[in-house]
Amino acid sequence: MTVKPFASAADLTEKSEQLEVLADGVYALTAEGDPNVGAVEGEEFLVCIEARATPVAARRWLDRLREHTDKPVRHLVLTHYHAVRVLGASAFDAENVIAHDRTRFLVGERGSQDWASEYGRMPRLFEEPASIPGLTWPTLTFDRSLTIPLGGDRGDLVLTHVGRGHTEGDLVAWLPRERVLFAGDLVEAQAALYTGDAFHREWSSTTLDAVDAIGAATLIGGRGTVALGETAVRAAVAQTRRFLTVLLDQVGGVRSRGGTLREAFAASHAALAPDFAGWPIFEHCLPFDVARCWEELDGVERPTIWTAERDREVWAQLQG
Ligand SMILES: [Zn+2]
Repeated sequence: MTVKPFASAADLTEKSEQLEVLADGVYALTAEGDPNVGAVEGEEFLVCIEARATPVAARRWLDRLREHTDKPVRHLVLTHYHAVRVLGASAFDAENVIAHDRTRFLVGERGSQDWASEYGRMPRLFEEPASIPGLTWPTLTFDRSLTIPLGGDRGDLVLTHVGRGHTEGDLVAWLPRERVLFAGDLVEAQAALYTGDAFHREWSSTTLDAVDAIGAATLIGGRGTVALGETAVRAAVAQTRRFLTVLLDQVGGVRSRGGTLREAFAASHAALAPDFAGWPIFEHCLPFDVARCWEELDGVERPTIWTAERDREVWAQLQG
């Protein structure tokens, strides 16, 4: 049996990036399954959404954005604490770095370990890692919801925590006027899910119900293409839910008949592969997903912290 290369460590091919103008002053940059970023123009300022893994990677995105607008970045919104989305924050010179209360807590609790873990899993995303000045600390946080008035006749950008899901501190960013939703990693349009820090049962039920109820006409997920139109948005949410419910069913089934973690991985892989194996990061994520789903069903309330060492152990146990 051949050993699969660890996580995305062997994925060294540069992805092509696509800047899409989704409405007047509403931007998304997608990159063939690499983490998406976005921006929203206020009358006199910019709100940027997600920061990428390093300041150098963030600056490449800002260079693209500067072809459309030269407004200063007032707010940088982070949908959750994961390193590949936050460690480039210093490049934005934002007045405020906004996140959910629990995201700030998680940065303190496990930010360093997560940085080492994600660097090992996805080295290509860490362009010039020495440019990272340190952990990214949110400067403005909230529990339920925070509204950013955009000025002029641009309406509001509404940040909401709709429940635990991909992490315990996810937020979504919603433009009611344009019906555009930046969903972070709570929804993936055409990419596999990472659930290693997730709350599968809550995410697959009430949290995705809440995302669905928003009624977006355009959705930018954490990775993958932009979902354009209500049908595509519904499909992206449904696909995300299906991944979670299949994982819960398979891992739960193996557990209830007294099986092993390795058997749960094999069963989940077999059940998910027909729909998801062709999508980015499927093989990379699945061992971590199954390990977390297993411990959640074991009654472990909060995800065990991933370290570079634990990553390799679980990989060797399940993908080795
Ligand atoms: Zn994430």
